Parts: sequence; structure tokens; C-alpha cells
Amino acid sequence: MKTLTQKDKTYVANTYNRFPVEIVSGEGSYFYDTNGKKYIDMGSGIGVNAFGTADEVWKSAVINQLGKFQHTSNLYYTEPSAELAELLCKKTGFKKVFFGNSGAEANECAIKVARKWASDNKGADCYKIVTLQNSFHGRTITTLAATGQEHYHELFNPLTDGFIHTPANDIEALKKIVSENNIAAVMIECVQGEGGVIPLEADFVKELETLSKQYNFLIIVDEVQTGNGRTGKMYAYMHFGIKPDVVSTAKGLGGGLPIGAALLSERVENVLGFGDHGSTYGGNPICAAAAVSVVKRLTDEFLAEVTAKSELIVSSFENLEGVEAVSGMGLMVGIKTVKPAAEVVKSAIEKGVLCLTAKDKVRLLPPLNISVEDLKTAINIIKSCL
Ligand SMILES: *Cc1c(COP(=O)(O)O)cnc(C)c1O
Repeated sequence: MKTLTQKDKTYVANTYNRFPVEIVSGEGSYFYDTNGKKYIDMGSGIGVNAFGTADEVWKSAVINQLGKFQHTSNLYYTEPSAELAELLCKKTGFKKVFFGNSGAEANECAIKVARKWASDNKGADCYKIVTLQNSFHGRTITTLAATGQEHYHELFNPLTDGFIHTPANDIEALKKIVSENNIAAVMIECVQGEGGVIPLEADFVKELETLSKQYNFLIIVDEVQTGNGRTGKMYAYMHFGIKPDVVSTAKGLGGGLPIGAALLSERVENVLGFGDHGSTYGGNPICAAAAVSVVKRLTDEFLAEVTAKSELIVSSFENLEGVEAVSGMGLMVGIKTVKPAAEVVKSAIEKGVLCLTAKDKVRLLPPLNISVEDLKTAINIIKSCL
């Protein structure tokens, strides 16, 4: 008999360099492995399990929908995706929502909206989208092209045409690009996640909004990782006082089931018409019911707790020996350690804490509802690994 690890290594494509942990169950902020070892979850499946594992409220939303039907296709009306779209619009002021199944697909929709809006409003030769260096927007050929990190591109050229990368926080460089090119949109992450948990500077984001009015282009905010309460607000753009035209989101939205969404403002709500875009699974009833239960719980009171827990993490690691810098927003924290981040994460896992890396940082994305007690225990274990 092959062990789980052997079976996976034999039959699953080699795209993931997994940690040596075989997870068999979980509950709340804990996971358990095949040896019965308990882990505190400081990664939430890369910011997906917003309310931890097997959360009772989330589970009952899923089970309730499972008892009705699991899928109908988008040929018919169903309650969960309509309710989710209404909730998202009412919480944000956006006008319409397109549902897909992942972050990359949410961004694909945003990109298609920008291209069609630009060709409708600025002419067929207007299609270029500016994204930031060190960004991450997904793994499809087009979202890879959007991703401003050369090493992801190398093996897959030629990628989709029409993306220009510019350095984050460099207002002059951005001004030069938008004044010299006919731009459809600029796409940003308010906090670069995979790039190293780096928030954008407020001035840069504000200036981007000014330029978008001056040169008539759209602002797309990729909130796949930062969205749905992760940074202490419903969406991270809300910290910056801007009003994007399109917001893409996924990860935490379904609380562990695959769903992505593109939120469309009044400026672009009717850009896509019948047949212009679609997804067989998009807005799947089980995933949408799960997402409704997640979004309903992201109240101001709950988000204030997220912010308080963020402050606890930041104050625990700031000015600590072995730590060079702490960055991020809300429960999306990057810790630049003196030791290589991968080594810190490896020893944290050995000591029973699952956390992540992002470039040269240790990255913490705990469940939003993690208890302060578990958070303190995890912080102390990570500190002991520095
Ligand atoms: C994870 C991520 C994506 C890609 O999401 P998938 O669901 O893996 O397709 C896109 N953008 C950002 C900012 C992400 O963090």
C-alpha cells in the first residue's frame, strides 16, 4: 500500500511542492494530520477559509443548499447567486456582479469588461491595460500576462498582448505611460499578496484615481486576496477612499468553496451583454450559498475584531529580534525575518503552526474568526522559530 504522500507524488501532477503534512481533518482554526498531530491554522488555505474549517454556520448554509439542488446551469434563475449579488451590491454600491469560479476567472472577466468598454467608448485600438511590477493576477495565459513578474512568464510565451507593467508607487512612471498610450484600464492590488504583502502608498492610489479621470480609463482592483474582510474592511480599496470601476474577488468569498466575482460599477454594468461572457459553473448554488453566509457575517463589529487581531500580530513582531520589518493590512501580514522565511515556516510547521511565505516574507492569513487565545499561541510559536 502506498502512503498518501507516495500516492499523491505518483499520480498528481508535479505542480505543487507540498509541505510534508498529510491533513485528515480540521475544526475551526485547527487542522489534524495522519499522526493525530494538531496544527493552528495561520494560512486558512491561502486566505480561503475565512471562518476556518468546518464552521457550523457555513456548513449549515452549504448543507441546506445541498438538500435542494447542487447545480442548474445559468439557463435558469436560482436564489443563492441572486441573493449573493444583491448582498455584494448593497454592501459596496456596485451595480452588478458576474460570477466565476476562481480569482483568475474573476480577473479574466474584469479584463474583458475593460477591453469591451474601451472599444465601445474609446475605439477598437484602445485595449492596453497597465498593471504593476511584482503583482500577481493568476495563472491563465491572460492573467499571467497581467502578472508583473517575469519569472512566471518565461516558459509560456507568447502571452496575451496588451499589458504594460509599471513600478508600484511610482507616480511619474505611471503618468508617462498613461499620457503616451491609449489606455483601457489600470489594474492594481491594494496590498500585493503573492508579491510580499506590500500595501500600496495612499498617494499613489489617489493619484491613480485623478489620472483615470483625466485620461478616461478604468480602475480595476484585484481583491482576490484582500477582499471579503481580510484587511479589516469589506474590500481593501475602502481604506484608500477611491471608487474603482471593477473589483475582482475570490479566495475568502466562498469560505472554502470555489467562487469568484467581478463587481461592476454603474460605468460598466451594461458593458457585457447576452453571450459576451459566461461560465458553466459560475455562481454555482452551493458555492453561492456558502458565500452568502460568509458575506452576511462581515459586519462592522466583526471587521473591528479583525483589525484588533491585526494590531495584536503587528505589535507582537514589530521591533523584535529576528524581525526586520512587518507589513500588510488586517489579517494579511508579512514578516520579513532575518532567517530565510522558508526556514521559519518549516520550523513553525514542525512546532504545530501552519503559515505561509510570500517572496522573502513569512505570510500570515489566519481565519478571520480565529480566537485571540489561538492567535497568541501561534504568535509565540512563530516567535520561537525566528
Ligand atoms: C490568488 C490570487 C489570484 C488567483 O486566484 P486563483 O483562484 O488561484 O485563480 C489572483 N489575484 C490575486 C491577488 C491573488 O492573490
